[in-house]
Amino acid sequence: MVATLQSLYIDGEWATARDRDVILNPADESVLGEAPVGNAGHVDAALAAAHTAFHHGPWPHLSANERQAKLTAFLDAIDRRSGEIIDLIVAEAGSTRGLAQFLQYATPMKHARTTLDVMLRPAQTALPIDLTPAADGSTMLGGHVLSREPVGVVSAITAYNFPFFLNIGKIIPAMAAGCTVVLKPSPYTPFEALILGQIAEEVGLPRGVLNIVTGGADVGAALTTDKRVDLVTFTGSDTVGAAIQAQAAPTLKRVLLELGGKSALIVRADADIQQAAMAGVMGFTIHCGQGCALTTRHIVHNAIRARYVEAVKQMIGAMKIGNPSDPSVQLGPLIREQARTRSESYVEIARAEGARLVAGGKRPAGFDKGFFFEPTLFNDVDNAHRIAQEEVFGPIGVVIGFDTDEEAIRIANDSNFGLGGGIYSRDAGKAYAMALAIRAGGVAINGGAGTMSSHAPFGGIKRSGYGREYGIEGLNEFTYMKSISFHAA
Ligand code: NAD
Repeated sequence: MVATLQSLYIDGEWATARDRDVILNPADESVLGEAPVGNAGHVDAALAAAHTAFHHGPWPHLSANERQAKLTAFLDAIDRRSGEIIDLIVAEAGSTRGLAQFLQYATPMKHARTTLDVMLRPAQTALPIDLTPAADGSTMLGGHVLSREPVGVVSAITAYNFPFFLNIGKIIPAMAAGCTVVLKPSPYTPFEALILGQIAEEVGLPRGVLNIVTGGADVGAALTTDKRVDLVTFTGSDTVGAAIQAQAAPTLKRVLLELGGKSALIVRADADIQQAAMAGVMGFTIHCGQGCALTTRHIVHNAIRARYVEAVKQMIGAMKIGNPSDPSVQLGPLIREQARTRSESYVEIARAEGARLVAGGKRPAGFDKGFFFEPTLFNDVDNAHRIAQEEVFGPIGVVIGFDTDEEAIRIANDSNFGLGGGIYSRDAGKAYAMALAIRAGGVAINGGAGTMSSHAPFGGIKRSGYGREYGIEGLNEFTYMKSISFHAA
């Protein structure tokens, strides 16, 4: 199927690209296909198309019901190709099959359908009547209407780890709000974006409403500096996020940044240890640790820490590592060799800092091909250690002890990041009070739904970025507020 995804989707047509990139399957290093790589000319054409579609096309002026109908057809057509898309998520991103079906595909589709429901909220709301003294001594009876307007042309730039999820999570609310979009996926996962062009064509989205340009940092940079772009929505690392904020500054674009994390999982002494350990394992092994909101920093009460570590060790020891084309595999590969080398280097850093390796720490035996790495657990970690402060983006979890709730919160908040978090405790009220004290965009108590909830806004603070995705808050990020006043006299 990737053989049909050989061109860029610009202004409702397929544009050829001279440059090509070999795309690997990270599980066996086989060549999945060659992908087109866009250049400055493609970015210019895509922005011209998006600009024309916004400023001269019907899209922003359609009623919400009309846009909803078009986008419903778009999602229905995606669902008809779900099998191919899930296969791509497995082969291109190295996702295990269960994760590809559930979190990488079904969850963003559920979020997208919810966006299409909430987009019918009134875009105009009347504000309370205001009585204002006039210069002649009389009283002005005035009113205001607050109108939510589409912000304009949107650049959507995404990461490799949840490619379909992130692409859909950006383009659907942007288009629902009435914006037009240029999507640039990660150079590791171009095909999961290009297939959306085929689907846009099939359902007849108006020309220029959705454009897809693959490529690397140069394409991304051009999409963040051009004055035709009104808003950049970005998901990726904090380093690139900071660069994008600077790139977007001269033209004063709005920027939404969904960045990395080092989220804390607090396990109180009264927690169900097996349940907490299961969540802890998922917190650093889901998608081989390549998840922004994963809870990789386990802050565990010292009274139960040894039992918790033993339970996690047993669970990761029993995990099946391998090529995720086998549905029984629980841990797939990292995306590329560079990512594996990064995990290896953090194992060395953690050892040198005095953390104790409990399990893993190396490439698993018996794999000549594929970027595999063992699930790795460190205990006796100090929160000041680099392994506790920096995002590895590999299957490495760290355990830090605590004695009081106040200490647990202080450790959780002593981080440059603030994306997700979790608390396990039999005392739900206490856990709730602690959740309120944690500085992060989201906290899940005893396995709360977190990113799986379609109405809850998702996003971070500090170096995890700003802006919110999903639900009504996520939709509203693609609008600006216009206040229209009128004189009632
Ligand atoms: P990355 O930052 O390396 O790249 C992300 C995207 O930015 C890619 O498409 C890349 O080509 C593009 N890019 C690179 N330099 C650019 C520049 N100067 N200007 C514009 N675009 C540029 O991230 P990655 O390695 O693909 O993904 C992993 C990171 O993403 C992790 O830090 C992870 O935590 C984060 N992430 C965050 C969320 C979230 O919702 N908060 C979700 C998934 C991943």
